[in-house]
Amino acid sequence: MRTSVLVVGGGLAGTSAALFLAWHGVPVTLVEKHPGSSAHPRAVGFNARVGELLRGVGLEDELPESRMAKGFGVRRVRAESLVGKKYEETFWTPPAELSDVEHSPVAGIGVAQDRMEPILRDKARELGADIRMSTRMLEFAQDDDGVTAVVQGDGAPYEIRADYLVAADGHRSPVREQLGITRTGRGYLHTSRSVLFRAPLEEYLQDGIGQFVIDDVGFLTTYGDGRWVLMLDDGEYDEPELRRKIFQAIGRDDLDVEIVTTGRWTISASVADRFSDGRVFLAGDAAHTLPPSRGGFGANVGIEDAHNLAWKLAAVLDGGSRPSLLDTYDAERRPVALLCHQQIFARNDGHNRDGEPDEAPLYDNNAMHFGVLYRSAAVLGAGPELPPAQLPEQWNGQPGTRAPHVWTEPGRSTVDLFGRGWVLVADHPQWEEAAAPLGVRCERVEQLDAFGLSAKGASLVRPDGYVAWRSIDLPDDPAAALEAAFRSASAGTR
Ligand SMILES: Cc1cc2nc3c(=O)[nH]c(=O)nc-3n(C[C@H](O)[C@H](O)[C@H](O)COP(=O)(O)OP(=O)(O)OC[C@H]3O[C@@H](n4cnc5c(N)ncnc54)[C@H](O)[C@@H]3O)c2cc1C
Repeated sequence: MRTSVLVVGGGLAGTSAALFLAWHGVPVTLVEKHPGSSAHPRAVGFNARVGELLRGVGLEDELPESRMAKGFGVRRVRAESLVGKKYEETFWTPPAELSDVEHSPVAGIGVAQDRMEPILRDKARELGADIRMSTRMLEFAQDDDGVTAVVQGDGAPYEIRADYLVAADGHRSPVREQLGITRTGRGYLHTSRSVLFRAPLEEYLQDGIGQFVIDDVGFLTTYGDGRWVLMLDDGEYDEPELRRKIFQAIGRDDLDVEIVTTGRWTISASVADRFSDGRVFLAGDAAHTLPPSRGGFGANVGIEDAHNLAWKLAAVLDGGSRPSLLDTYDAERRPVALLCHQQIFARNDGHNRDGEPDEAPLYDNNAMHFGVLYRSAAVLGAGPELPPAQLPEQWNGQPGTRAPHVWTEPGRSTVDLFGRGWVLVADHPQWEEAAAPLGVRCERVEQLDAFGLSAKGASLVRPDGYVAWRSIDLPDDPAAALEAAFRSASAGTR
């Protein structure tokens, strides 16, 4: 069997990779060894940047908005119990910086992972991805021209030949291990037990507070669909003990509580030292395990990896870009993972049980979601003097950052202009003439000040919505300037 990209792993990162590749029209096959999603969801909070990516592939209407109060992120308190006394609220980053700036056309998404995965999977299939559940990759080998994998579903093992392989096979990543890719970071932190249960507790979800660090019990949160999870220290708990813990956490024992399942989680923090090896790319937890407790970075960053990689693979596969474009995946995404790792330990999670805090400066949630900086050969003009993250209004259209959001008409944001192909944002006819021969779509936008441009300037935006280059004013020869920038940033062959 032949495909262009083989994705191994059907969790959030792998399924997103299949979805975004299919969106770009790339023939993609995904193998996942399990028949479906785990009965015990992990992630529930998806940030607004991920919301933008999913809006971009037409999924916005299927995804419920999170209960996060805008600008505050996930609200968390220390409490005696859910119904009892609440102590201080803990913030990952200081909430004082709240401004009136609207950063995105969408809000975060609050949906449990076992609902999210099927939504992504169905959409990927609708767009043409070949998704094979209950199919395990047994082995793989790469050569100069491609990757050959042996996979097995219900029947006998068979071979799949692909141009590229995306390893989204989770934090233990057998693919990463086979490639001998080492990891950096704090490593193993602790092991947690969890119990997932249903209980009628909606009345206690007020003020956007959905996370409770309960004295002497553990961490209580909800999936927002009647299901709750209580995280406990590692140990063996029988059912009566679990019920006691649940009632203690709630502060009431007169409710119907249905235990759905239990879990055991190894919490660790590490980032792979290389995100690729030849024709193999690591994405999601295979590339970085980022503990969820101080930023909810894990799945979000994995979905963003997939988005970053998909357009590059599509561009190289269709011959528009040279394979060197793929080197920018590691150059762009690994620093983001390392920054997240640093921020997790610089932040306060209300438990502080994972060793010494990191002394690093804190970056605002909005800076982490909308304002990370890429420095790579696919960006022109992002120098080493720039910080790794800032608020979009501070970046003001800086190359290497996500193109800013402004409404161009009711319900339509500048963010909606990007997704397929390269776009030149400008409002001067000479730029339109310059863009056409390059196959770059010119979008006339009046609010060029948001992009840090004069009325005669232009910004070249990549298919992932990141600014690759800008000319603040009209140069003498806009066509030559744009062509040079486009060929360089896209590693273009055309
Ligand atoms: C308790 C908890 C809560 C969390 N909450 C959040 C949150 O709110 N927000 C957030 O962003 N992150 C959160 N995270 C982190 C998040 O869950 C993970 O980062 C994310 O699910 C990782 O997705 P993935 O696709 O990279 O890996 P996985 O979900 O681990 O998927 C890897 C898949 O690969 C498959 N696989 C492996 N080997 C093979 C093979 N050889 N052949 C076929 N298939 C294979 C596995 O079966 C698995 O399905 C949380 C984590 C935990 C533990």
